[in-house]
Amino acid sequence: MGRASKDKRDIYYRKAKEEGWRARSAYKLLHIDDAFDIFSGVRHVVDLCAAPGSWSQVLSRRMYLPAVAAGCAAEELPKIVAVDLQPMAPIEGVTQLQGDITSEATARQVISHFQGHHADLVVCDGAPDVTGLHDVDEYVQGQLILAALAIVTAVLTPGGTFVAKVFRGRDVALLYSQLKIFFPDVTVAKPRSSRNSSIEAFVVCRRYAPPPGFEPAQLRALLHSSWKSFGPEAQHSALMRQLVPFLACGDLDGWDADASYDLPAEGYISLPPVQPPTAPAYRRAVEALKGAAAHGSSLSEQAVAPKGSHEAT
Ligand code: SAM
Repeated sequence: MGRASKDKRDIYYRKAKEEGWRARSAYKLLHIDDAFDIFSGVRHVVDLCAAPGSWSQVLSRRMYLPAVAAGCAAEELPKIVAVDLQPMAPIEGVTQLQGDITSEATARQVISHFQGHHADLVVCDGAPDVTGLHDVDEYVQGQLILAALAIVTAVLTPGGTFVAKVFRGRDVALLYSQLKIFFPDVTVAKPRSSRNSSIEAFVVCRRYAPPPGFEPAQLRALLHSSWKSFGPEAQHSALMRQLVPFLACGDLDGWDADASYDLPAEGYISLPPVQPPTAPAYRRAVEALKGAAAHGSSLSEQAVAPKGSHEAT
């Protein structure tokens, strides 16, 4: 699809470029904040699965840059730590780590940045490369959230907030019940900027309160016990009956992510992306194509195995 037709079909893609956001996802976090005021009183934040960085940009613009403008001393400035598998171009006030959040080493690295203090907010917009097999995609997405939860239980301050992307599939109630072990207040939010056609939504988990005596090392066992009580034989268990409120957020009279909007009749210029990918998945394929052309061989003779991409942001 050409850039102009994408501008027409996706108003948030167009607006993101106009307003300097690296991805249209920025609006999802902004719409969640409109409804839940998640940044209020927040000084330390972790942004998990952060590339290409539009949520980190929101955190920087909403927290870090105003504090700088207000003349805060260095030690008073908000601390923002962002992690992703992919490298990210720098963002003012954001410490970046490259790693897999499901690995213990990455979790330790994140935690090490919070020595002596806690995070007030952890956000996770993680998404695996979707396969189109809904059960598999939902499962892998669930695993990402549980990895994020392991980091949350190590860094989040009691009373803090955790926001994470979920896929609302068949078994999402299990995930809600697991989150409820740690957060008395869990709401599912569907921002206006998230397409209705997408099964994605965001859990907004507030008032972090781990069970009495909880140690992060117990997380796996605790989650496993909630899973055991969730099988088909437990259809009527208390866990299955956990109800989680659902909130559509963002201005309902505002831009509709599912609608096409005509391009301005005059003065319209399709803008380039704010931040081209630093390590795009297609780079190896392009290099292989060039190599094949130079040697007069076909691409099928070259080993090309592109890795994950940011297509869905
Ligand atoms: N919030 C980002 C923004 O606003 O720019 C967009 C995030 S994008 C939808 C999903 C990201 O999850 C991708 O950049 C991907 O690399 C990352 N991701 C997926 N699995 C991951 C993992 N295991 N560890 C770290 N990052 C992961």
